Amino acid sequence: MTEEAVPGGRATILLVDDEAEILTALTDLLEDEFDVVSTTRPEEALGMLAGGLRPAVILSDQRMPGLTGDAFLERARSYSDAEALLLTGYAELEAVVGAVNRGRIAGYAAKPWEPAALLSMVTAARDRYALRHALETERALMRGLLENLPEQLSFKDAAGRFIRLNGARAAALGGTVESLLGRRESELLSDEAAARLARAEAGALAEGAVSELVEEPGEAEGAVRWMQVSRVALGDGVLVTIGRDVTEARQMEGRLRQADKMQALGTMAGGVAHDFNNLLTAILGSLQLAGRRVGEDPGLQRLLRNATMAAERGSALTRRLLAFSRRNELALRTVSVNQLVLGMGDLLARSLAGPNGTTVEVRRRLAPEPVTATVDPEQLELALLNLCINARDAMPNGGAITIATEEVTVAAEQVPDLPAGSYVRVTVSDTGTGMTPEVLARVFEPFFTTKDVGKGTGLGLPMVYGLVQQSGGGLTIDSRPGQGTRVALYLPAADGAAAQANGEAQEVAPAREPVRVLVVDDDATVREVTAGFLADLGHETVEADDGISALRVLESDPSVRLMVADFAMPRMTGAELSERARAMRPDLPILLVTGYAELAALAAGIPVLHKPYRQAELAEHVAVLLG
Ligand code: ADP
Ligand code: MG
Repeated sequence: MTEEAVPGGRATILLVDDEAEILTALTDLLEDEFDVVSTTRPEEALGMLAGGLRPAVILSDQRMPGLTGDAFLERARSYSDAEALLLTGYAELEAVVGAVNRGRIAGYAAKPWEPAALLSMVTAARDRYALRHALETERALMRGLLENLPEQLSFKDAAGRFIRLNGARAAALGGTVESLLGRRESELLSDEAAARLARAEAGALAEGAVSELVEEPGEAEGAVRWMQVSRVALGDGVLVTIGRDVTEARQMEGRLRQADKMQALGTMAGGVAHDFNNLLTAILGSLQLAGRRVGEDPGLQRLLRNATMAAERGSALTRRLLAFSRRNELALRTVSVNQLVLGMGDLLARSLAGPNGTTVEVRRRLAPEPVTATVDPEQLELALLNLCINARDAMPNGGAITIATEEVTVAAEQVPDLPAGSYVRVTVSDTGTGMTPEVLARVFEPFFTTKDVGKGTGLGLPMVYGLVQQSGGGLTIDSRPGQGTRVALYLPAADGAAAQANGEAQEVAPAREPVRVLVVDDDATVREVTAGFLADLGHETVEADDGISALRVLESDPSVRLMVADFAMPRMTGAELSERARAMRPDLPILLVTGYAELAALAAGIPVLHKPYRQAELAEHVAVLLG
């Protein structure tokens, strides 16, 4: 198919006759219409064909020494699909019959020939050859098109049977092209779907062409796919159907609309919050000044205090609105996310205690290696707290919240609207009520809440959204009614170099003198992190998960040189444990770890390290204690 033969166009003819004069006469006759190649030896002609000569027509004499015309044409078939014509000296019926049967000749002429008749026979053969090739080209193009189209394509005859369909269509129907040819699509469908199909196809046949958007169940459970289906009547009841999957385009459209909406809301919320902030600043300042002037009047003072408190609440709300509209001043730092999550233990315990004694368990699945992100730590803590409170609210009968951290590499397009790169993913999942798609579509709108007045402000998720956006990250929410909710925050990972530059992750020199350290914490994750830090410094660690077992270790193992204990533990607090350990081993250095800021005073005489702490801080305390 390299050189296209065009009907009526110029083509090559191969002439074979052992008599040179005959070749000359034939060349005379044909050279106006053809490129003529001729030879007196059939073996040479075979060589030419084998070498790549592509004639449209071969005209061969029958009587030749060595190889007869019919035998030559038969052998020529293995190289050439040219139209073959035989020239016979006298009526050699046998040879003609043989040539027709084996050499597939298209005609024969008797010598001496009548020039006009021979010429018209040869040009007719050439046109047949050209047509045959044009048809083959057409079919190859059609087959290539059918198989390579991402669209689903099928042709049906007037009886609704598939006469052509491509792989994409066959796959969508759950079969192969071969298995479906000749079958009716309605056989594969439910009665209801078959009726719908019949209506759609009748409509297309009546109107010529019809296009519709069809919703189909997707692969995942509950997922849907959108197909744009066009049907065109080709005449005689033949119908071509083209189906295009437009799910992604629709999702993209939805996301764009959502992004537009968030942008508009952000602009509005930002403007309102900004003005309110100014008003509240004026109100608070005036209240403060007024408070100084009204003197001791307790009634008036109380009123002013109430007013101040209300204004302060207003100002807290305003700050969350500003966070949503990304007008917050972020204090971006390199933050060790595991540490931050661990440090929130006490805060969460206090905030999540259910009002009616229901229990919400917080589980942590932290990345085994330290993960650092560039984010504002206070804002991140607030965001996680918001997510945990939402989770608690969704589990009125108790349940579990899981906070997980992980460093992930995100490819382009993998997470909507998130550029490819390295991220720390923090997920907060719950086993609660989940959300309907309608609620899910609106959760980022400021003031959207499904909670009772006074219970929800509708500013939690907008704040979280604003924070991740402003930090250059993103977030996803997976939620289904009855299936719980999973919110994933993607925070830009901080690389080691950046951490260094921020002075946040200094190199920690190994301890000069390794010792045996007892680590006491009821929370296994925190304990492991602390023990890990210490091991990293070269120390040997023994772990205990409560005060009683810690005391037992101290009793049995005199080689313990230092104890690091959590303050808030069930049954025996860190303070109690310290006291009893001191009674046993007065010289034992002790370090208390706590998440409560106000606790420093309580543990007089015992150094306190506040969560979340960095390895360098722990190393420093330990070094001081080991003196
Ligand atoms: P608020 O908590 O004040 O209502 P949010 O912005 O935090 O405001 O949440 C908006 C709404 O999203 C909630 O009212 C609730 O309907 C829904 N929601 C948020 N988180 C969850 C969750 N974990 N499970 C179920 N629904 C949730
Ligand atoms: Mg909330």
